[in-house]
This record gives sequence, C-alpha cells and structure tokens, in this order.
Amino acid sequence: MESFICVQCGTQFNQTAQPPPQCPICEDERQFVRHEGQQWTTLEKLKSDHHNRFDEEAPQLLGIGTQPEFAIGQRALLLQSPHGNLLWDCITLLDDKTVADVKARGGIRAIAISHPHFYSSMVEWAECFDAQIFLHAEDRQWVMRNSPRIEFWKGATLTFWDNITLVHCGGHFEGGTVLHWPAGANGKGALLSGDIIQVVQDRRYVSFMRSYPNLIPLGSTAIRRIIDAIGPFSFDHIYGAWLNANVLSDAKPAVARSADRYLRAISK
Ligand SMILES: [Zn+2]
Ligand SMILES: [Zn+2]
Repeated sequence: MESFICVQCGTQFNQTAQPPPQCPICEDERQFVRHEGQQWTTLEKLKSDHHNRFDEEAPQLLGIGTQPEFAIGQRALLLQSPHGNLLWDCITLLDDKTVADVKARGGIRAIAISHPHFYSSMVEWAECFDAQIFLHAEDRQWVMRNSPRIEFWKGATLTFWDNITLVHCGGHFEGGTVLHWPAGANGKGALLSGDIIQVVQDRRYVSFMRSYPNLIPLGSTAIRRIIDAIGPFSFDHIYGAWLNANVLSDAKPAVARSADRYLRAISK
C-alpha cells in the first residue's frame, strides 16, 4: 500500500495498492491533466531527486519551496509567532533536512491552507509535527487523503493565537481563504494570500481568477466579495503563492486599485 502523489498538482492520496485511476483536482476545469497523461510518484521517490529551498521572506516568515520545481511550484510559509508557529499553505516534499530546519524554528502548531492546490502532502506534515490542519468546509470534497487531524471550519473568519486570523474569501475556490497576520510588516499587518489574491508580475498589483492555467476569470460579484471580506483588516504587505511573489508596500490600496482595474476590464 502506498499514498500516491499526482505529479501534476502534487496532491497525495489515500493509501492504495495501485495508483488511483485519475486525479479529480487535475480533471477539474481549474487545473489540467499532464499532456503526456496522468502520472504518479511517491514521497520516497520525490526525496531521491528533489530538495527544499528556504527563503527568509520577512522576519519570522520562512518561505519553503521545492527544487527542481515540482507540481505547480507551490511554496509554504512558516509563520513564526510568539505563541506557536503556523504553516500557511503546504508543499509535497517533506524530507529530513526540512524537518530539522522547521523543528529548529520551533516546529508547527497548526497548518492552514488557502485552497486545494496547496493541500499537497499536508497529512504527512501534520503527522510529523503533531499539528492540526484547518481547511474551509466548502472545499471538503477536494481532500484526497483523509485524516482525523483535518478540521473543517465554517463561516467568515477563524482566529488563532496572537490574533492570526483566517478570512474566507471564496473566488478561485469556494472555500478560498487568506490569512491575516497582524504582527507582519513591522506591526502594520500582512496578508498571506495564496492565489486567492494573486500577486502578479507588476508587484504593485494583484489579480483574481477562477482558473489561472485555463484563463477563466471571476465575475464582479466574486471580486466584490473578496474586497468586502478583507475590508476590516489592516495590512501593508502581501505574501503570495510563489517564492518572492510579494507586495511589499501599500498592499491594501494595491488590492483596491487592482480590483477596480479588473472590474473595469470585465465590464467593457
Ligand atoms: Zn493532480
Ligand atoms: Zn490554485
């Protein structure tokens, strides 16, 4: 028995004797199946030819990504906070060096994930660090490896220790979530946004899509809902879905002007 991993999206599945027949996350209209067909790997195989890269994205915020790039190039962010560390989003590769580095920084108290494209091997991480996983209940159907460590939360917000708060935005995924870190950006606040609010190449802007690879936009109602959801929170920085994809000044006005630009573009 083996927990197989989809090569295209990096999601680990429940244990089976044979690889699963397909990956529902890749077959969804927001992703795509590899052009060469569905392929599977295992964590042991991944460990043999990949390693993780660590980037200090900010004080107390460690970016963790895999090299050479694997799946969709996800990054995780280890948010180090006085009352415990939180892993925001997740990546597939968990090797001995990563375990040692994360333990040296105080381990992981909880894992929270923006949306299913970052579920990856979250259960491996949760078991290794004895952590609980928090996923929005509206994305329950996309969990491919079940675990009693997964807690599905409902509603608009969920607040942890040190006022770290998950904010339900929807959009790209029905359960799409961002994280507000009030101590980030030297106390001005930061958003950890995954690609629910996507930091784009012009780092003064963000964008929003139902599907990035297949270019399916969001409608005006979904955009306004995201803006309303983050309205009560102050933030000066945004840390996005990829290594170094960050807005590092005036981030809240950047989201507002990006939403205005987007709404203008789709109303023409
Ligand atoms: Zn997949
Ligand atoms: Zn995504």
